[in-house]
Amino acid sequence: MRVLKFGGTSMGDADSWRKIISIVKERTPCVLVVSATSGTTNLLIEAAELAEKGNYKRALELAGSIKERHNSLLRQFTEKEGCDSKQLRSAYDHIDLLIEELERYLNGIGTLGELTPRTLDRISSIGERLSSKLLAECFNAAGFVAVHIDSGEVIKTDDAFGQATPDRQQLKTTTGKLTNEVQSGRVPVMGGFYGNAPDGNITTLGRGGSDFTASLVAEAIGADALEIWTDVSGMYTCDPRVVPDATSIPEINFHEAAELAYFGARVLHPATIQPAVDADIPVQVKNTFQPDHPGTTITSELKEEQNIKAIAFKRDITLITITSSRMLMAYGFLARVFTVFEQLKLPVDLVTTSEVSVTMSIDRTDGLDELKERLKEYGEVSVEHRQALLCVVGNNFLKSRGIANRVFGALADIPVRMISQGSSDMNLSLVISNDKVEDGARQLHREFFSE
Ligand code: ADP
Ligand code: ASP
Ligand code: MG
Repeated sequence: MRVLKFGGTSMGDADSWRKIISIVKERTPCVLVVSATSGTTNLLIEAAELAEKGNYKRALELAGSIKERHNSLLRQFTEKEGCDSKQLRSAYDHIDLLIEELERYLNGIGTLGELTPRTLDRISSIGERLSSKLLAECFNAAGFVAVHIDSGEVIKTDDAFGQATPDRQQLKTTTGKLTNEVQSGRVPVMGGFYGNAPDGNITTLGRGGSDFTASLVAEAIGADALEIWTDVSGMYTCDPRVVPDATSIPEINFHEAAELAYFGARVLHPATIQPAVDADIPVQVKNTFQPDHPGTTITSELKEEQNIKAIAFKRDITLITITSSRMLMAYGFLARVFTVFEQLKLPVDLVTTSEVSVTMSIDRTDGLDELKERLKEYGEVSVEHRQALLCVVGNNFLKSRGIANRVFGALADIPVRMISQGSSDMNLSLVISNDKVEDGARQLHREFFSE
């Protein structure tokens, strides 16, 4: 049994939905995990933020446009598939129901002028709650038996709204309903990205979290394979939107792929890999619009030879520097500093230290004011925004010579703010300013991948 995940980029219009149906038909028995339709999660979050700022009218307009894009998708689907629109009655009703729910939330936010993480999760999950039910109904209208499963019944999490942690043990039981459906010859379709907290409130797993949902489900049901279907033919040697001559990597090791995902290759959510690694389930990244392309296979095998696999980058990271003479020859200083990050649940990506200062890069800026306030106790705090992480990913870096030389040679005209190598054998990472990162990625790609 396989788990197939279709991302927002594959969920944009009726043609893509028909492509999904034909891909799934060739792959049963399987479980389907889907994202919201392309751009919907962003619109939902924007609507919530507008309501909070008092622009309730514009927020409602966005809710209206979300409703219209889903209605229009169903209309297009009916036309192209040649099915009877009455068959999609409950899909249209579902849209009405969820948009009314959205409007009620927006009203509440507008009245109180407050948007809590809990309400934001309710709102941002609406994209997946819509797309999964609608796709299941379209499958049925096209004569292929699918059943919609609410992810809240399957993915049980803690109550860390916005970045909830799933209970992987409980999943072994809750996924029973998925396997039962498969055994009865149906294809279960569930939304990615969200789950339920112990008190029944909706939680989300973080942006891009549908990959994670798919991987958790694959682990829990003991799937033979996990397929991530997107709009590019696998993991590339760099983001193909930025480096047009980047090429698809036929095979990559789990750890290299995780490193690549972690350092910005958006094609996979970083945490996706872990449950699949633990269960040794091969992951394939494939293109919905070119299903015959083999894409990238991610496995546990690691080739011995030194190998540069890809260039990755992540924009909009923030650097925090603490300078304090108390750090000089002191022990325990870094431990106390990191405790603050832990208390605020802010993950640190890179760290560099000197005798009297430490610089850390973070990806998220929620809680930044609180972080600065608490860190002041340890020294002078400075913050640099609009920085980017640029990273060479591969294996056996520690044994190889000359990589740093080539990296700095290729980037000779770009000022480098931070460097990190050696904590793993698999990457060399730099921090440069946001506006130089695309040039930097192209220059490094040329250095390591041009014939
Ligand atoms: P989905 O909606 O399917 O989850 P995403 O937009 O999250 O898709 O991820 C797919 C995108 O990731 C691609 O369109 C591509 O621009 C981007 N991307 C960034 N780095 C890479 C990479 N190394 N290989 C492939 N795609 C990449
Ligand atoms: N729809 C969610 C997002 O845009 C989750 C996902 O697509 O993976 O972040
Ligand atoms: Mg994605």
